[in-house]
This record gives sequence, C-alpha cells and structure tokens, in this order.
Amino acid sequence: MNIEANTNCSIVIFGATGDLAKRKLFPSIYNLYRKGQLDSRFAVVGVARRGWTDESFRENVAASLRDSKMQVEGDLEDFLSHFRYLAFDVTNTASYQDLNTLLGEMEQQFDIPGNRMFYMAMAPEFFGTIASYLKSEGVKNEKGWNRLIIEKPFGRDLPSAQKLNEELRQAFAEDEIYRIDHYLGKEMVQNIEVIRFGNAIFESLWSNRYISNIQVTSSESLGVEDRGGYYDKSGALRDMLQNHMLQMVALLAMEPPIRLSTDEVRSEKIKALRSLRPMTEEEVAKYFVRGQYGPGTMGEKEVPGYRSEGNVPEDSRTETYVAGKLMIDNFRWAGVPFYVRTGKRMAEKSTKIVIQFKDLPMNLYDKADEKKQPNLLIIHIQPDEGISLVLNGKKMGTSGTATPVKLDYCNNCVDSLNTPEAYEKLLYDAIQGDGTNFTHWDEVALSWQFVDVISKAWTNNTNVDFPNYAAGSMGPQAADDLLAEDGFHWWPIADDSEFSI
Ligand code: NAD
Repeated sequence: MNIEANTNCSIVIFGATGDLAKRKLFPSIYNLYRKGQLDSRFAVVGVARRGWTDESFRENVAASLRDSKMQVEGDLEDFLSHFRYLAFDVTNTASYQDLNTLLGEMEQQFDIPGNRMFYMAMAPEFFGTIASYLKSEGVKNEKGWNRLIIEKPFGRDLPSAQKLNEELRQAFAEDEIYRIDHYLGKEMVQNIEVIRFGNAIFESLWSNRYISNIQVTSSESLGVEDRGGYYDKSGALRDMLQNHMLQMVALLAMEPPIRLSTDEVRSEKIKALRSLRPMTEEEVAKYFVRGQYGPGTMGEKEVPGYRSEGNVPEDSRTETYVAGKLMIDNFRWAGVPFYVRTGKRMAEKSTKIVIQFKDLPMNLYDKADEKKQPNLLIIHIQPDEGISLVLNGKKMGTSGTATPVKLDYCNNCVDSLNTPEAYEKLLYDAIQGDGTNFTHWDEVALSWQFVDVISKAWTNNTNVDFPNYAAGSMGPQAADDLLAEDGFHWWPIADDSEFSI
C-alpha cells in the first residue's frame, strides 16, 4: 500500500443524479464520514444535467441514505453542508470554468489544499471528453493531487479501450487514473491474497503439484431487469468475464509479490494474465461455452426468457451466460484448468471459488463402493463471506471408513462485523492514493486481448441454438460437458449438504 498522508479533498461526482451515485456513492461517502475515515475537511460537488439546486441535491443525498437503510445520526446536517450541486452538460466546455470557481470557493471554505478527485459516474462515452476538458479548462489542479475514477465498462474491445485510454492519458498520468472493478473492493476477494500468502498450509500446496483444478462461479438469479438495452450490446463475456472473473483468476494465479505495494501486486497480476493460453478463433468452441436463458421458474415464479425481456430483440444472440476453461501456461500452473462461469437467471445468486486438490496417490479409505471426496478449499465471496475446507474424517461408529467433514469460517456471521461495501473501501483507497485494488491499463489490455478472440469467434459463428438453458437452472449442458471431458464436475454453489457428516 502507498498511503497518502494528505487526504482532505474535494470529490466531484459527474452523473450525480444517477443510479450509481444514489445507491453506492452517497452512502459510501457518508459511512466514511461517520467512521472518521474521511478527513472532516472535505467537499462534494455533484454535476449532472438536471436543474437541481444545492438544496434539492442535499435532499436527494439524504433520501439516498434513507433508502440504503443507513443508520443516519444527528450529524446529517453537517455532512450535507459539504455538498454543492452544479447543473451542466459535460460536453459544454464553458461550464468547466464554473466548476473550477466553485471548487476554489469550497476549498477555501473547508481548508482543502487543492486535492481533487473526479468520479465518472456516467456513461463511458463521456469519460474521454470530461478528462480532456478537466485538463484544458484548468480544473485539474496544479496545487494538490488529482485523481480520476473511471467506472466500467472500459471499452468494448481492445481497440476501443486503447482509444479511451489514450484520451484519458492525454490529461491524466497512469498513476492518477483509478479504474474501478468493484469486485476488487469485496472483502473476500481481497482475502484471496491473505489466504494464499498468510498461510503456510495453503501457499505450499498452491501449484500444479497439488491442485487439480480451480472453479470460479459468479451466478446471478436476476435477469436483465430494466437494463435490457444496455445488456444486449454487452453480454456476459464483456460485462463479467473480461473484468471481474479474470481479475479473480489473476489473484488466484499470480506469484507472491515481493511486497504488498501497488506496483508489485499489479506486476504479478499482469504476469499471470500474460500467461493465459491464447486461443485461435477455431479453438474457442473447445474452451468456451455461451448460453442464453429461456423461460423457466425461479422458486415458485414463472419468469420469461431473455428474448422476451424489455428492449431485447426477439432474435437476440447475446449471451447471458459464459463458461470457459482457462489454461495458465507457466511453471506453477501448467496442466491445471481454471474453470470460470457466470450468468444471469441462474438457480442461485452466488460468487464462489472452489480449489480442488489432487487425490492422494494411494488412499487407504478409497473403497470401490464409495464416492471419492477430494479436499476442497472454498472461498465464499457473496452473499456469504467466508472460507470452507473440506477434509476427510473418520465416519463415526465405523472402522476403516472415511467421510467428508467441512470446516467453515463465516466472515459476515461474526457478531458486530458489518462488512463495508466494496465502493466504500475503494473510495477510501482512492482518497489514500492506494491504487492496488484498481486495475492497471496493462491488465485491462491483456484481458481484452484474451476476450476479443472469443467475441470475434462468437460474432462470426451465427449458428447458435439459443435459448439453451432454462431460467432457474445452472446453465447449459455444454458447460457441464466441458468439465466432464476432463473428468471433473462443477461443485455445487449453494447446496453443500453433500459435505456434511
Ligand atoms: P444513470 O443513467 O443512472 O446516470 C447517468 C448520470 O449521468 C445522470 O446523473 C445524468 O444526469 C448524467 N448525464 C448524462 N448525460 C449527461 C451530460 N451530457 N451532461 C451531464 N450529465 C449527464 O447511470 P448509472 O447507472 O449511475 O451508471 C453510471 C456509470 O456507472 C456507468 O458507466 C455504468 O456503467 C457504471 N456502473 C453503474 C452501476 C450501477 O449500479 N448503477 C454499477 C456498475 C457500474
């Protein structure tokens, strides 16, 4: 970590009337304020097109805290007094002067030494324009530090991501750019490094010598809700795999960094991503499976298929599910498949990593009539947070018989431990100047390079049999076959009962 002593700053939120600001940013800023993690000398300026006043903006901020069911204390009025609003169209260069003037006033009022954080909570097509006007109109300050926080999606393929990056880099240096991947703010994703590098029993086993395969699942039970229009242009590959899933794989696969500094951690993640086995378009079908949900039942409720969702074309070929087998061609991981899968309208909402260890060369308890149980390390990311370890123990009352035993550690079950939201942690990190849990451009570029081959193959092969999984199921049969070919199967994500004594 690179901790910045100088943390009193102004935060400019572009897109302050939007969904992200309301649901995530205002509650996160309030939590940081309430916990004393935000310097009391801070200012927030909301920018959007709507003609709000400071008062109506503050009312909306207060309402967002209420909607988030936050425990709002008597300090609300003081908190809100740090918020101001400026209505303008971000494509209008002249308005940036007003923003600069307002920031200057607030910096004086709250004794802020010119540190400015610019949060892009807007559609990505505006990112480049805003960055360039911030520089050309002098809003990017010479006096303090400047940081630019960028939301996903960062491009829709490598060329568009490169273009966006070049635009940003004209105005901001790489170490001033904080690309959000909110999975990296999740407690248990951050815990991957601690589990690996803080425990002798795991790190010594963390290789192709002892691990047979790794499975990363991020399943959602919701469909596309009211985001059909956006989602249909994106799909699961771009929306989830390119960023969140590959980031988790990089954390699982990377070599131990020499220290926990931003540069060292990033450099190891970059090396892991560089080791991903590239595919040709012809090979994509061997390694990747795409799916789209049809109608089905979620619990008791009948739900429509993807093609019947709002703003989705009737003949859409967009994937709502993707599963794949990644090979990491380096000394540590040669021969170990990393299976990933993510999708919408799956049976459960869950993000989970299962590390399956190799079977013993000879197992005295391996009876022909009993199912073999490998050791598993399960990292529960959400909604449960914790770790489970599946071992074999003696079956009580018998002799010479082993049975699986599961040891559970539940992070969010510990009394009084209220896990902070990912956004809260990431905002805190960005204010501290700690970019470790943000993605470096090289990571973004390598991820797109890998994913672009898959999307090209899928675009060129229009012969898909969609829908190919029912809403409420765990995805298409082909995803099960992908593992079965290697002699594996997906571990259950919700029903762990098969591990109990
Ligand atoms: P939104 O549509 O709810 O809000 C967009 C905001 O931009 C509004 O405040 C709107 O007034 C403002 N805006 C649009 N055009 C403008 C212009 N020309 N000038 C000034 N203001 C303008 O969008 P959102 O859901 O809040 O998403 C914002 C960003 O965050 C997107 O990049 C999205 O992909 C990303 N994101 C959102 C979520 C989420 O939960 N909402 C999650 C992850 C990432």
